[in-house]
Amino acid sequence: MATVLYPSPVFGPVRSRRLGVSLGINLMPADGKVCTFDCIYCECGFNADRRPRVGRPSRGEVAAGLEAQLRRMAAEGVLPDVLTFAGNGEPTAHPEFAAIVEDVLGLRDRYCPAARVSVLSNGTRAHLPEVHEALLRVDCNILKLDTVDADYVERVCRPAGRYDVERVVDTLCGFGGRVIVQTMFMCGEYGGRSVDNTGAEFVGPWLAALRRIRPQQVMVYTIDRETPAAGLRKASPARLDGIAELVRAEGIPVSVSY
Ligand code: SF4
Repeated sequence: MATVLYPSPVFGPVRSRRLGVSLGINLMPADGKVCTFDCIYCECGFNADRRPRVGRPSRGEVAAGLEAQLRRMAAEGVLPDVLTFAGNGEPTAHPEFAAIVEDVLGLRDRYCPAARVSVLSNGTRAHLPEVHEALLRVDCNILKLDTVDADYVERVCRPAGRYDVERVVDTLCGFGGRVIVQTMFMCGEYGGRSVDNTGAEFVGPWLAALRRIRPQQVMVYTIDRETPAAGLRKASPARLDGIAELVRAEGIPVSVSY
């Protein structure tokens, strides 16, 4: 299947379904993927098929690459709506993540003060004090919580190390509402088993977790690009809308991407 890798350390601008005109910041190597998850729906492919040969960009390379691109965009009169940490894997896994966040905030203030800084993360390192503090500094701290079903996480998100759903929910609670939860809903099957997380048995416990976390927003979305695993299907617009309505009924703002 045709999965994608992004240039590093800066890519775009791209028009994001969820974020507007987004300039991407990819803290992972350009020639491969490095993630603490190995999601079967990952648009970057499976970890084993995408082993990089080059290293991650350094803090200095990220700052220089971003500044050069912001200068180009300013000269063209098109500034980004959002600077988004995303790309070929988990951004918070970069050893200089916290310092890079500070650099990016400084460049944002200088070149495009109206732009938001977003981080798209799977949340596996959000409990680490340095990462936690850095995530509190950005405008949109967008953390993944596809389910609170531990078996589903193991089969679909496939964490590289120990992943304790309860601890992750506690970590999300620890942001005091300064967190956006993103959740992938999908249908189909993988390895002969259903991966449909749109039913009440998944949505109910997930809603209970949201009640505890009280995020500033929930982003509900589904598969948009080719996936490395065959047999996965998009969740229907009607089902996504139904789930979003349940979130809204909890008094939590929600967006849906079909
Ligand atoms: S967390 Fe994101 S980058 Fe990592 S494997 Fe899953 S979809 Fe891919």
